Amino acid sequence: MKCPDHIVQWMHDYLDGDIAPNDEQALREHLQQCPSCSHHFNSLKKTVAFIQHCSHLVPSADFTANVMARLPKEKRRIRLGRWLK
Ligand SMILES: [Zn+2]
Repeated sequence: MKCPDHIVQWMHDYLDGDIAPNDEQALREHLQQCPSCSHHFNSLKKTVAFIQHCSHLVPSADFTANVMARLPKEKRRIRLGRWLK
């Protein structure tokens, strides 16, 4: 079956706790019928649980700061790799 593009967006909204009740209902119905979205949703939930677990282990803002600090470096490395090719 063809999955609506907004299904993944709804998953993120749901995990952010920021989904409209109507959308949540439609999301649940789709997940019941669609094994691939259901699987994707479960792995998203695991990732969120893992990140929340990690931020409990590091009870400071450093975790987020470190993640943010790493992002530009990753981008720079990708750009450099493109030049080297
Ligand atoms: Zn689907």
